[in-house]
Amino acid sequence: MKLSNMHLKTLREVPTEAEISSHILLLRANMIRKLVSGVYGFMPMGNRVLQKIEAIIREEMDAKGAQEILMSAVQPAELWQESGRWNAYGPELWRVQDRHGRDFCLGPTHEEIFTDIARSEISSYRQLPQNLYQIQTKYRDEKRPRFGLIRSREFIMKDAYSFDKDWEGLDKSYDDMYDAYEKVFTRCGLTFRAVEADSGAIGGSNSHEFCALSDIGESVIAYCDHCDMAATDERAVCVDEKMPAEDELAMEEVFTPETKSIEDLAKFLNVEEKKTIKALLFEVFDQPQYKYVAAFVRGDRELNMIKLVNALDIPEHAIDFADEAAMGVVTGAVGGFTGPTGLHDCTIVVDSELIEAKNMVAGACKVDHHIKNVNYGRDYKGDIIADLKLIKEGDPCPKCGAPIKMARGIEVGQVFKLGTKYSDSMHAVFKDENMNEKPLVMGCYGIGVTRTMSAIVEQHHDDNGIIWPVSVAPYHVIVTLVNSKDETQCALAEELHDTLLAKGIEVILDDRDERAGVKFKDADLLGIPVRITVGKKAGERVVEYKLRSEAQSVDKDADQAVADAVEFINANRRG
Ligand code: ATP
Ligand code: MG
Repeated sequence: MKLSNMHLKTLREVPTEAEISSHILLLRANMIRKLVSGVYGFMPMGNRVLQKIEAIIREEMDAKGAQEILMSAVQPAELWQESGRWNAYGPELWRVQDRHGRDFCLGPTHEEIFTDIARSEISSYRQLPQNLYQIQTKYRDEKRPRFGLIRSREFIMKDAYSFDKDWEGLDKSYDDMYDAYEKVFTRCGLTFRAVEADSGAIGGSNSHEFCALSDIGESVIAYCDHCDMAATDERAVCVDEKMPAEDELAMEEVFTPETKSIEDLAKFLNVEEKKTIKALLFEVFDQPQYKYVAAFVRGDRELNMIKLVNALDIPEHAIDFADEAAMGVVTGAVGGFTGPTGLHDCTIVVDSELIEAKNMVAGACKVDHHIKNVNYGRDYKGDIIADLKLIKEGDPCPKCGAPIKMARGIEVGQVFKLGTKYSDSMHAVFKDENMNEKPLVMGCYGIGVTRTMSAIVEQHHDDNGIIWPVSVAPYHVIVTLVNSKDETQCALAEELHDTLLAKGIEVILDDRDERAGVKFKDADLLGIPVRITVGKKAGERVVEYKLRSEAQSVDKDADQAVADAVEFINANRRG
């Protein structure tokens, strides 16, 4: 391929809307193109990368016996009503109507569709197990699309669904996919970690997220160096700290002016923050069993929203911080001075650590007042008691007690054990060996294909541009022709291009009528793994050989350069 013929428009400036390296570089290198917020197209180079990633995924999925199909993005509302997710999914679900007023959505994921296939096409245990997958465009009307391909509203996902006759079968299917994902992300050149995760809107019992380690990642990972515990902060179990035993003292109301924060309060009363109770107030929407919720954790803790919504068994989008004034009128809550003892007409959710915590300081539900010596059981009770704590660096590991470490990652894939969540609600059954009707036991497995592309760039770049791992590089070698008017240089450059091509190397020839500096800058920006520069020494058949990942270039005999490039690419092309 000659660059002079290629559609390529690289940018020198940093696009204003892009904040992170991968977004900036993918736009600058003309790999992707923004249409509207959260909606991107793929240009020739970017499209090649995408196809490489997809090819790796296909190989690893097929190696596990999964079968590729392709379903539509348009999904009828009826299937989502059957599963109960038409309402549960919330505003992220991109709903559309046809000319007759019939409801559809643009699929954010395909559990309903694949369950529907299974219930009509699988009837006997003899057809099991099955694993069907697709690589297909998904739609999620994200609240805050950002970081380019990392959180977009239209994106490409590989989604797979397994169907087994029992839980042991599911365990095997799940392990296979877990193994395939490790291979996929390794071959894509990612440094990643598989961590236990919450199953979110997808549902089910058991789940792992695959996180590409990165400081810009939105997943926060808690892990332990002393054992194998690794989980997202949403999921990580927190150990209740045992406090020294104390006799329960009598409650005492105290005047605590201008102590709206836990820090102010602890200072004012000269107590440790862990001797106080923190209140967080919420309003719940469209859930008949709840209106207002007050959650209580120890003063030195942060509330974990996912644990709260799981404890309430409501979708995440159905809850928001309360308008404290409105809530106060109904419940007696007083923002900044809310405590569990003066509340009514609201659901009280208490962190399990508070049960044994004695003589705590809590808000008095009265402006400028707190109550000392508040004790669970005697002075207040929770409607729900649960672990509501957000884990933090240094907390004891829930498995072995060693101090927890924290890291950030980009969630590139997630695997779920769904069990019978969808087969029950959608009645997807099969006949077992004894002709008994049983629900299919399901798993589902997603990879964000386009997000993976960004994650790779996030981990593989420098100030000058992208440094593609060979396995996903749009081209393997770029032959840079320094002077396109020099016949000797032209002839050698073309020869190298043709020889490499004949040896199965994906090569581009930069034969543009541009200054050498511009060509070098573009080659760095595009991130092609090997650059062979044909310049002044072309007459002696001497070229410059440079790996994108290394700073130094070396002069080589042209044939040697070709041989070295072929060896390097072939050793790394599988990833
Ligand atoms: P997130 O927590 O980041 O919103 P999710 O857990 O809702 O993602 P899944 O339902 O597990 O996502 O989807 C499978 C995969 O699809 C994710 O692991 C991720 O790689 C990708 N993905 C999800 N949402 C987006 C998005 N808005 N843009 C790009 N990729 C996405
Ligand atoms: Mg996920």
